[in-house]
Amino acid sequence: MGQISVKIQDGDNRTFEHGVTAGDALKELVSNKIRKQTVAVKNNGELVDLSTPMKSDTVLEPVTINSAEGLDILRHSAAHVMALAVRLLFGNDVKVAIGPAIESGFYYDFDRKEPFTPDDFEKIEKKMGEIAAHRLPFERREMNIGEAIEFFSAQGEKYKVELLNEMEVDTVSLYQQGDFVDLCRGPHLPDSSWLKAFKILRVAGSYWRGDEKNPMLQRLYGTAFFDKKALKKYLAQLEEAKKRDHRRLGKELALFTIQNQIGPGLILWQPRGALLRKLIEDYWKDEHYRHGYELLYTPHIARQDLWRTSGHLDFYAENMYSGMEIDEVMYQLKPMNCPFHIGIYQSSKHSYREFPIRWCELGTVYRYERTGALHGLMRVRGFTQDDAHIFCLPDQLEDEIFNIIDLNLHILKTFGFDRYDIYLSTRPEKYVGSDTHWELSTEALKQALIKKGLEYEIDPGEGVFYGPKIDIKIKDQLGRSWQCSTIQVDFNLPERFEMSYTGDDGQEHQPIMIHRALMGSLERFVGVLIEHYAGAFPLWMTPEQARILNITDDQYQYCEAVYARLRKLGVRVEKDLRNEKLNYKVREAQLMKVPYMLIVGEREKENGTITVRKRNGENLPPMTPQEFAEMVARECEEETGTGN
Ligand SMILES: [Zn+2]
Ligand SMILES: [Zn+2]
Repeated sequence: MGQISVKIQDGDNRTFEHGVTAGDALKELVSNKIRKQTVAVKNNGELVDLSTPMKSDTVLEPVTINSAEGLDILRHSAAHVMALAVRLLFGNDVKVAIGPAIESGFYYDFDRKEPFTPDDFEKIEKKMGEIAAHRLPFERREMNIGEAIEFFSAQGEKYKVELLNEMEVDTVSLYQQGDFVDLCRGPHLPDSSWLKAFKILRVAGSYWRGDEKNPMLQRLYGTAFFDKKALKKYLAQLEEAKKRDHRRLGKELALFTIQNQIGPGLILWQPRGALLRKLIEDYWKDEHYRHGYELLYTPHIARQDLWRTSGHLDFYAENMYSGMEIDEVMYQLKPMNCPFHIGIYQSSKHSYREFPIRWCELGTVYRYERTGALHGLMRVRGFTQDDAHIFCLPDQLEDEIFNIIDLNLHILKTFGFDRYDIYLSTRPEKYVGSDTHWELSTEALKQALIKKGLEYEIDPGEGVFYGPKIDIKIKDQLGRSWQCSTIQVDFNLPERFEMSYTGDDGQEHQPIMIHRALMGSLERFVGVLIEHYAGAFPLWMTPEQARILNITDDQYQYCEAVYARLRKLGVRVEKDLRNEKLNYKVREAQLMKVPYMLIVGEREKENGTITVRKRNGENLPPMTPQEFAEMVARECEEETGTGN
């Protein structure tokens, strides 16, 4: 059938017989080393199997084990191998749904009566190992869609049949490994021998297609790497993340609780968590006030008409809870604070001389989240946004954005976050506002980032329909990213609410509005803080800075006096005066991650001192309660930078 020309991206070019497989062509075009690391190939930019025949002139790009795409292919292939293993172990009664690669591994959804147990995990892993040792190829074939529907129907694979019935194509591709045939687009590894480092991690319930009306399937999660070292490192990190899980620590440290009788996604702050939150809120409020913000409080519900004017009922309705009738007027819970701040703006007339106006509020909002999506403090139904709105003139925009970024980064640093990724999102396809407005504000965001000397990435078209935005994702101790801060310019709400001010020309103009959240939500931010610090918070924000421990009952009275004195001096101190062994009480204080243990025996009682032991076991020389309080205050000032 003639010859075709195959070129390697940025490399050699050769002529081959028509129909040569990508893998065979590569043998002559790349070094042995690269060929041995290649798991798939890009054929004129399209990811395909190495076994794919080349039918016309083409440019190939090897996809190696060192690329993200290569890792994806490994993990996706591992999902198939896991499904085959499950089939071999548990029979054809187990129905298979879908099995994609995900960010940190892969999963496969199974319909099986009996639940998968950790014992099963081991069996499945062992079987996967056997399959890998057999070097089973992933064989691709194409089938007419009607035939494919018949094929899967005959096997009772109802999920595959459902997927096929919705596809609008003539042919589909199937992949076969051993006796297991799966519907899949590919590509896959050449064979199962690449699977050397993998692990099944957990099982979770998962509704077919994420819909609660559908049957509940069992989702087996796993991960895979090309080498054992990388897997080991990942598992160690996972172990560390588990230790830091805020849901577990939240319980152990008595910070918060979520109860079914109250409702999922609704947080109850226990005394220690409430104190932690108060400290964060106080710092946040003080810092904003110092930086020229005024504080607001607004209600939790508003007339439905307000949400109509704001556009929320058009654009945001699926996130809002249904209305309630009060005196024959419909009201609704707030999903955002913005319209309330606009209400305050409109309670008086404004002149250009007042600008910029900076208003902030810790405003509690309610948004609908699916039950399945709820997750500890991270994903909830009621949360407190650390919100701010800035109203300014066009020529103030850049400075205001600069100031916001400056304040955000300063506060994030105090909380212990100084690594972040910054994204600038530009105009999406559907938008409101004039092109001039968009250019002006996108440029202002960009210039502010440049002036601050920050590196950023552009997310083209990812802006909100009403304006461009900056997102800041912070990195925690484990290197995980968390979306927290967002800064958005808005042309829409000032227009909808017909906001105005009198300019220096005596005419009425529309102000520019900036929405800004720093932590995002207090709930989520506290969740991130718990995991970042593994519950051992810095002294300035820890709910219990010190705990008094007596050695015997003889020091009881003295301890009570020290306790009262320290509380008066502003130290967040607790006491454990139970008749228990000192070691036992020390151990408990350590588990509660209390920074300082104040140990009191006869000698301390006689000298009017306390012996201070740090969380890490280090002892400080005896000191008076006054000296201790001064030391704590000094350390807190250093941490927050508020000492002058
Ligand atoms: Zn596949
Ligand atoms: Zn807003």
